[in-house]
Amino acid sequence: MAENKEKKAPEVVEEKTKRVYKSSKKKVCAFCADKTEFIDYKDVARLKRYVTEKGKILPRRQTGCCAAHQRELTKAIKRARTIALLAPKAE
Ligand SMILES: [Zn+2]
Repeated sequence: MAENKEKKAPEVVEEKTKRVYKSSKKKVCAFCADKTEFIDYKDVARLKRYVTEKGKILPRRQTGCCAAHQRELTKAIKRARTIALLAPKAE
């Protein structure tokens, strides 16, 4: 039996194992660095750094805060909005 085997060319597998490492600095929570336990809602200058122009609270990936401080920050910003220290969230 004559088998018609086609000779397969050795597959050239391009190695895509190279990993692209993003060279980003590891962010450290600004509040942890300052050892702030309580975020003052009256500290508008500080809170303003964590909201957009429209008054939205920045996500954690942008603020670089740790979970606990992001939570506190959110609370503080919401409080500040309530007493009109910060602009309310624009729609
Ligand atoms: Zn923190």
